[in-house]
Amino acid sequence: ATALAIRSLRKTYDGGVEALKGIDLTVEQGDFFALLGPNGAGKSTTIGIISALVNKTSGSVSVFGHDINAELNAAKRCIGLVPQEFNFNQFETVQQIVVNQAGYYGVPKAEALVRAKTYLTQLDLWQKRDARARELSGGMKRRLMIARALMHQPKLLILDEPTAGVDIEIRRSMWGFLKQINAQGVTIILTTHYLEEAEMLCRNIGIIDKGQLVECTSMKALLAKL
Ligand code: ADP
Ligand code: ADP
Repeated sequence: ATALAIRSLRKTYDGGVEALKGIDLTVEQGDFFALLGPNGAGKSTTIGIISALVNKTSGSVSVFGHDINAELNAAKRCIGLVPQEFNFNQFETVQQIVVNQAGYYGVPKAEALVRAKTYLTQLDLWQKRDARARELSGGMKRRLMIARALMHQPKLLILDEPTAGVDIEIRRSMWGFLKQINAQGVTIILTTHYLEEAEMLCRNIGIIDKGQLVECTSMKALLAKL
C-alpha cells in the first residue's frame, strides 16, 4: 500500500512566500523516509499540510488512500504527529498528557492506560509518569511528544526535526526506538538537517530545496554518489 501520495503540491503563504512550488512524492507503507533540506526549504510546510495544520494552495495529498480534503478524519487517524515545538500543557503530568491524547481518538481509558505504560516504558519515561511536563529535560519532552503521537496507534508517524537540540546519547536511544517502531510496521517520515540522522535511520530520502524536491532516492544510492 501507499502510505503517502503528494501530487503537484503548492503552498504560497499570505504575503507571497512560495514555500512549495509543486512537490510530487510517494512514500510506501513500511518505509522509513527522511525529508532533508536546509532551513527554509519547505519541510515544515510539507508536514504541516500532510497533518492538516496548514492549508495548501493547490495539489493533492492522500494518506493511506484517504484524501486530506475529502476524508480528513480518516486521514488524521492514520497519522501520529511529532511537531517541532513542545505544544503540550506544561502543568499536566506525563501520564495525563498521553492518556488524554488517546481520549481525543476515542481509545477507552483502560486501553489508554495499557498503552501509556508500554510507550512510556519503551521511551524511558515511566518513572516520570507523575512529573509535570515543565519539570522534564528537553530530551524527555521530545520523547514525551513521541509517546503522545503513538497513543492512537497511527500507521504513519511523522516527526519534524525530532532530535534537534538533543544530546548524542539520547539521540541514539531515540533512533533505536524509532527503528523498533518501524520494524513493527509503522511507516515513518521525518525531517532533519542532519545527514547522519538520515543515514542511520532511513531507507529512502527526499531532498527539498527552495520549495522543490530536488532528489528522491534510496539512501544507499545517495551515499554511493557522495
Ligand atoms: P523548513 O521547515 O524547511 O525550514 P518551512 O516550511 O518552515 O521550511 O518554510 C518554508 C518557507 O516558508 C520559508 O521561506 C519560510 O520563511 C516560509 N514560511 C513558513 N511558515 C510561514 C508562515 N506561517 N507565513 C509566511 N511564511 C512562512
Ligand atoms: P484535534 O486533535 O482535536 O484536531 P488539536 O489539533 O488542537 O486538536 O490537537 C490537540 C493536540 O494533539 C495538539 O497538541 C496537537 O499537536 C496534537 N495532535 C494533533 N493531531 C495529532 C496527530 N495526528 N497525532 C498526534 N498528535 C496530534
